[in-house]
Amino acid sequence: MNETATDAFDAEFDVVVVGAGAAGLSAALTAVETDPDARVAVLERSARDIRGGNTRWSGAYLRLQDITTPVSNLVDYAVGASKGYANRDYYEALVREVPEAFDWLHEEGVVLKNLPTIFLTQSASRYQPVGGGVNIVEPLFARLEATDATILYEVAAETLLTDASGAVVGVRVRDADGTRNLRAGAVVLACGGFQGNSELMTKYVGRNAYRVPPISRGGANNRGDGLRMALAVGAATEGQFDLFHAEPKDPRSEVAEAVVMSFPYGILVNTAGERFMDEAGKTVDLTYELVARTILQQEDSIGYAVFDQQVTSVPGYEHAIGTDVDPIQADSIEELEALIGLPAGSLARTVTGFNAACGTDVPFDWSRLDGLAARPAGQPVKSNWARPLTDGPFFAYPQICANVFTFGGVKTDLAAQVITSDGHPITGLYGAGEMTGLYYEAYAGSTSVMRSITFGRIAGRNAVRLALPAAGAPVGAPVGA
Ligand SMILES: Cc1cc2nc3c(=O)[nH]c(=O)nc-3n(C[C@H](O)[C@H](O)[C@H](O)COP(=O)(O)OP(=O)(O)OC[C@H]3O[C@@H](n4cnc5c(N)ncnc54)[C@H](O)[C@@H]3O)c2cc1C
Repeated sequence: MNETATDAFDAEFDVVVVGAGAAGLSAALTAVETDPDARVAVLERSARDIRGGNTRWSGAYLRLQDITTPVSNLVDYAVGASKGYANRDYYEALVREVPEAFDWLHEEGVVLKNLPTIFLTQSASRYQPVGGGVNIVEPLFARLEATDATILYEVAAETLLTDASGAVVGVRVRDADGTRNLRAGAVVLACGGFQGNSELMTKYVGRNAYRVPPISRGGANNRGDGLRMALAVGAATEGQFDLFHAEPKDPRSEVAEAVVMSFPYGILVNTAGERFMDEAGKTVDLTYELVARTILQQEDSIGYAVFDQQVTSVPGYEHAIGTDVDPIQADSIEELEALIGLPAGSLARTVTGFNAACGTDVPFDWSRLDGLAARPAGQPVKSNWARPLTDGPFFAYPQICANVFTFGGVKTDLAAQVITSDGHPITGLYGAGEMTGLYYEAYAGSTSVMRSITFGRIAGRNAVRLALPAAGAPVGAPVGA
């Protein structure tokens, strides 16, 4: 029981938002804009200079067909990616609410453009903030700082405080000086997934989860606190807990997204020097997550993307290379194999077999699934873009599986209220962003930032309307509710 006597509070707010990424900033700013008299506080674990959570480090691609309109098939695509398990009502609400939320985002000074992405082939249109997610969070911070809202850095929410009816009435926080109890008319949890918590990763994802680092520094701060706090007050869950959004990355690089998304034009090998999957079954945006997951299953959970010089003439090649560390390079495959540390003769054998099986029946066309396949004996098929690796120097990037965010989280309704397993809202508690569960099976690409902003906005508006009823009726409630 978290019951706390009113006089045990150290400070009082109308709305307390936990976490200052896309979801939390959208919630806080919306709350204060909905009622400028609202006393809004944002709690953020990180230091100010790296504020903005996972969002700050994100490319923040958005599955939009223009700056305010989701792509037309978003609901079917996203539910299909989950093999039918994802909450269709949630995606339908997302599609309904995105235009208003993104109009607002635009007014808050966030500039979105349809620029080249890291995906040289892709299945859908994507917009992005110029310069990435940092240019979502910094404009929103600037607007929030111009209000009377309180932003507390290096302060972590620890426990939700409830009254005798089970309603959330505050939050206990911890910083370097110890703990404090903040009273809140409503609390919005927007504090990310559990990718930064190795124990929870092992509990839910299982063996070898420790080998999957958060892809960015921001993710390391997302330690499942929101999930833990919400479960303690009776929240239900949603999303696939044993999965996370996986991305292959160069483990030698510390940059935000150290990817090598050119792999469909080369081959992927494991520490035995053997190919282990079709590198090019679909457009790269639909392949990379499976690549990362398959690398995780290899010996030592590492793979190598191997290329010859032909790949460097693919137009826009540079957009696909996020890592800032040079590849391992050699004049011959045998030398490359030795430099990587693969068993003698292994890579040479793989490349010889692969090269001999590359088709010549159709022309190479980097820009579409060209059907230029290789069917080497004893190796996986490569379905597209299969050209023999012949033009040295040859080069390779190591690749591991990184965690962009976790799939499982707290369950919310369409008004962003955290709900119990019986479907009852927990009074005073809202949730948004990656800490709310949504995805199953495969990530519906370029929807995480979009949903964080959109449901963050709904959460902020409804939280302030609960705390200060004069601010208006709730929004986003299910029809008939
Ligand atoms: C490299 C990279 C690339 C990505 N690319 C894309 C993309 O192209 N498109 C897309 O849609 N998504 C992408 N994502 C994912 C997406 O950016 C995130 O899932 C989304 O931005 C999450 O927003 P959020 O507000 O829920 O969480 P965050 O932005 O992570 O914010 C959560 C905040 O809560 C804070 N916090 C955690 N615990 C506590 C606590 N107890 N108390 C106080 N504060 C706490 C954290 O420090 C953090 O600042 C990418 C992510 C990364 C890292």
